[in-house]
Amino acid sequence: PRSMALAAAAQRVAAEFEYSKEAVNRGVDAFITQMHEGLGKQGATMSQIPTYVTGVPNGTEKGLYMAVDLGGTNFRVCSIQLHGNSTFSLTQSKVPIPKDLMVAQTSHELFSFLAKQIQLFLKTHHGEHYNTHTERRASMAGFGGFREEEIFSLGFTFSFPVQQVGINKGTLIRWTKGFDIHDTVGKDVCALLQKEIDALGLPVRVSALVNDTVGTLMARSYTSPGKTRTLLGAIFGTGTNGAYVEKLSNITKLNTTAGSSSNYDKSTGEMIINTEWGSFDNQLSVLPDTPYDRDLDRESVNPGIQMFEKRISGMFLGEILRRAIVSLVQDPAVPLFHDDDSSRNDVHSTTQIDATSPLYKQWGLDTSFLSIAAGDSGLGLKATRQSLDNDYGVSAASAEDAEAVRLIAAAVGKRAARLSAVAIAAVVISTASLATGDKDDVVDIGVDGSLVEFYPNFEEYIREALREIPRIGPEGEKRIRIGIAKDGSGVGAALIALVADRAM
Ligand code: ADP
Repeated sequence: PRSMALAAAAQRVAAEFEYSKEAVNRGVDAFITQMHEGLGKQGATMSQIPTYVTGVPNGTEKGLYMAVDLGGTNFRVCSIQLHGNSTFSLTQSKVPIPKDLMVAQTSHELFSFLAKQIQLFLKTHHGEHYNTHTERRASMAGFGGFREEEIFSLGFTFSFPVQQVGINKGTLIRWTKGFDIHDTVGKDVCALLQKEIDALGLPVRVSALVNDTVGTLMARSYTSPGKTRTLLGAIFGTGTNGAYVEKLSNITKLNTTAGSSSNYDKSTGEMIINTEWGSFDNQLSVLPDTPYDRDLDRESVNPGIQMFEKRISGMFLGEILRRAIVSLVQDPAVPLFHDDDSSRNDVHSTTQIDATSPLYKQWGLDTSFLSIAAGDSGLGLKATRQSLDNDYGVSAASAEDAEAVRLIAAAVGKRAARLSAVAIAAVVISTASLATGDKDDVVDIGVDGSLVEFYPNFEEYIREALREIPRIGPEGEKRIRIGIAKDGSGVGAALIALVADRAM
């Protein structure tokens, strides 16, 4: 009968997303190998970028800092007061970036706009740092016209690919996300911002160039309970990436690359590494692969690139599910979204899916739908059916239809969580973080992003996989604490500015 054929088909597709204990363990081994490769040379699969941030906070840090965030559609400016007891207060403003500045002729047009937003923020929220007196003094004497205590240190979160060569120095490799200003490529983005800040005579020093995962790690380390230092900051949002604390002596490429000429504080013996783990196993030696993954990749703008990210993050999970659903809709033997119990080959069988449904368009299914379906425990899966009707042009889906969709959505989400566990486990194991300290000591991990925040039981699926990895096991899993780190790009950037000032 109809409902059994549908259930069997959904189970068959869901099974394609199973990611076994053995595969998880193979993944961890490969991840550790690729981490080591990246620490040793430029151009490895995982970039393992040295950040020149050589310590993480413990919650006692104090002071008033500024942070700005350029990463997409908005420019955020904020000031952060660190109270020194793991808490902070944050004041912020947000403006959309005018479209014409994203594709301007010169860097000056964009960066002078950013500096003007900083000026406006100072005037509005920090009159004590900004008045005509300081402005006049600055214009007379240049940047040196301010006393050191009058100067705001600023952390610049810049979420585009940069070649970082110092804590406040990095050149743009290429623009992404709709930005395209030829003139900026190859230039130091901190120097570009500082130049425009100086032109306005503002008492602001660009102290640190910040990647958002590093910000997440710093923010979590400052706010983590019990003043525990955090090992790893990880993002599971539009994309996925992680940054962790590595021993300086393991970062062997620091001795052989341009980095060796930079000055940084070596006394801690550590440096935060931005893994860029989205590109783990681009060669597909151990990652799970289904027809849906392959088609998604082939039709993406960057085939063969970011293969780990394409199986984990919010930008892609909806598209994987969409392709799986469409494969069933197009299979004449499977009665998905059909309103009678005749065979699909029967010309009288009518479909309930609109021809213009977003389900037929690339990227048409948003990952938030996975959270709705996977979390739907209501009678007859009402929430899932409602979303199918309102958002995806499927009228009057049956409870069986919704159950088929729910089953596949849950399988896609669970595989993503188990893959996330591979990255987390590899960092914990390769840094020997469970080997040191008391068996009651926790290993703290800060996470951010809609997927980990909103996908039902994402953390529990990660933990289940961690227990299946012998070098972690149920004992180790209990010692791993995972906490949401909010405002990474604000408080995290402020903390990096603080660390940078100390190293001066
Ligand atoms: P970003 O990573 O860009 O800073 P987010 O962490 O909010 O921002 O991630 C946005 C991504 O998360 C988008 O790809 C979106 O489809 C997805 N997303 C939004 N809401 C949810 C949700 N409730 N459950 C799962 N994914 C979601």
